[in-house]
Amino acid sequence: MSHFARQESIETIARRPVPPPYPAQAAGDIAYAEDVFTRETMREYLPKEICRKILATIDNGEPLDASVAGDVAHAMRQWAMDRGATHYTHWFLPLTGSTAEKHDAFLELKDGKPIQSFSGKNLIVGEPDASSFPSGGLRSTFEARGYTAWDPTSPAFVKRNGNGATLCIPTAFCAYTGEALDKKTPLLRSMQALTNATRRLMRCFGAKGDGRVAVSLGAEQEYFLVDKSFYLQRPDLLQAGRTLFGAASAKHQQLEDHYFGSIKPRVLDFMTEVERELWRLGIPAKTRHNEVAPAQFELAPIHEELNLACDHNMLVMEVLRTVADRHGLVCLLHEKPFAGVNGSGKHNNWSLAYDGRNLLDPGSDPRQNAIFLTVLCSVIAAVDRRADLLRASVASAGNDHRLGANEAPPAILSVYLGAQLAEILSQLEQGREGRSADGQATALKIGVDVLPALPKDTTDRNRTSPFAFTGNKFEFRAPGASFSCAGPNTVLNTVVAEAFDEVAEELEKAPAGRFNPTLQGVLRKLVKAHKRVLFNGDGYTGEWAEEAARRGLPNAPTTPEALEALVRPENVALFERYGVMNAREMESRHEIGIEDYRRKVAIEGNCALDMATSMIVPAVRREYRKALETLDLARRAESEPGAAALDAECALLGEGLADLQSYAVALTDALDRGDTAGILEAMGNLRCVADHLEPFVEDDRWPLPKYREMLFVY
Ligand code: ADP
Ligand code: MG
Repeated sequence: MSHFARQESIETIARRPVPPPYPAQAAGDIAYAEDVFTRETMREYLPKEICRKILATIDNGEPLDASVAGDVAHAMRQWAMDRGATHYTHWFLPLTGSTAEKHDAFLELKDGKPIQSFSGKNLIVGEPDASSFPSGGLRSTFEARGYTAWDPTSPAFVKRNGNGATLCIPTAFCAYTGEALDKKTPLLRSMQALTNATRRLMRCFGAKGDGRVAVSLGAEQEYFLVDKSFYLQRPDLLQAGRTLFGAASAKHQQLEDHYFGSIKPRVLDFMTEVERELWRLGIPAKTRHNEVAPAQFELAPIHEELNLACDHNMLVMEVLRTVADRHGLVCLLHEKPFAGVNGSGKHNNWSLAYDGRNLLDPGSDPRQNAIFLTVLCSVIAAVDRRADLLRASVASAGNDHRLGANEAPPAILSVYLGAQLAEILSQLEQGREGRSADGQATALKIGVDVLPALPKDTTDRNRTSPFAFTGNKFEFRAPGASFSCAGPNTVLNTVVAEAFDEVAEELEKAPAGRFNPTLQGVLRKLVKAHKRVLFNGDGYTGEWAEEAARRGLPNAPTTPEALEALVRPENVALFERYGVMNAREMESRHEIGIEDYRRKVAIEGNCALDMATSMIVPAVRREYRKALETLDLARRAESEPGAAALDAECALLGEGLADLQSYAVALTDALDRGDTAGILEAMGNLRCVADHLEPFVEDDRWPLPKYREMLFVY
């Protein structure tokens, strides 16, 4: 195929007419959660007794009566078919970090006649031939079968496409040995661990029986949009999800005029359609705005129960991608699609409630304050003690370019509390009278005194901290935009459970009548031991990295270093103790993480090499040739200034070509050796030369869409 023909096909694809959104409706007609098999739907479609049983399973984790499954399946199929569904799928979260689905029609043949069927067994278990999913050695391919098991706590939903629909059943994915091959299973186990530990802690504070523990997550999703016709001209975006070349545009984000700016009509149309789709799926999309970088945006939902919120965030990413495509746009979820401007993260807003009360809300009476301070200190202790695990939970090839890149939290974990809370903790530590930031004198006696009011907004929003207390929740800002929320929250739940248990252990030993002083002592000890992780300053600075090193805080700047945490004996012991993952499961996550990292870097390396050799070098070479020819003409015309200028230009282009060639050789070598660090280094050098040469090549001969186009023309 000639270049021209290829170009033509790409343009045809880019210009494919945009189908109308499904279905074209007025806003008022959107029934929230219309495509979700909700409680209300169950009541409508199921007999009362069956409904009661299934709700008991959902709410209290009671084992599901096998006989009930058939009735539930029947009702689900009826409901889904009313929405146009012809197929069903077990929807799961394999260790690739994305979602997986394999569709089966409701179709059966009985004596050659078609009938619709979907049995209880079809609902409860699936046996996908899942041999190609990463298992990190948990399951060798000859015994490839994994199975999917229905997670009734995340409701089934119908996913629509232009001319049909599919019933999706959220499931966990395990090997026959029961070992988890997915991200959901450890998450559910970690929620159980945190539930147990929270109940134990609350019993120390006089709670009777087992209250309801709820972990909440609000995941803010950042993303970029680029026009599809640019995207299709960029092999790097197509293959690696990020640009591997591209000189900075004169204007990028210096003026900070994009952040919260008025949203362009085309983008607003896109966002509106995304929200309609999400609302139909019962996903409470709430906030939308322009982000800091040009062409960067954010979507934030109302927080929900953790397991559901994790599933919902996976759907958010999918809906963003598919709706963008319908609008002739491409949604980039890579952590760093463009060098020199901000990357995209996923702020993980996490909180914990007991019997409906948020334990991270200071509350207004002394007993509530005591619980709040205990939970606060426990989380601080957890982050300090297991910083390496939290760091590992956000490690990936993409996020390596974002963490610590002066626009995102560094790879060093620290906790931001704001001036007022920091002061309260230091009073707690020293057991002395002090002044809170609002000037009130305080003599903090836990469980007796009321904390000064902590209005959410006095805590100056510190955007540079990876782990910030923001009023009534913790915001973990290190996860990358493309991440599943399951991994980071599995770690967070487990490490907090450990800290709660440690506190409860001490409190349970408190002599009668000595609870408050015991608590005071326990918290003082916690603050003393873990205050090194508290940092209210600017996390982007080099001074902080030095200070953090002096404090002995771990700093793992790259993914392979960070992932080591998953196989450290003390971390494996922790996960085993809490039944979240066993040693083999941990080892498999480590292996998959490393493998994924190596593969992604190799793909980028090969892509960069290909682009350099087949696109950039030829463009520079043509320019060089033109310059040489013109130089020749100038000499013949005896134009000295002309010859001098062209001579300099030839030298620049000639040296550029030589540099491109030598870095391409270095990159080839590193790729051959499978030397990941070498690939990254050679790729960086190659890019540096190419970006330098870009403005010296005649604009219409440059083979790639430029930053000033991709980031500003949409
Ligand atoms: P920001 O200024 O960071 O955007 P917001 O208060 O708007 O802060 O909240 C951002 C996210 O935090 C939203 O997704 C929101 O639903 C979530 N959130 C708010 N309160 C809680 C909570 N108690 N637990 C978990 N997430 C919460
Ligand atoms: Mg936020």
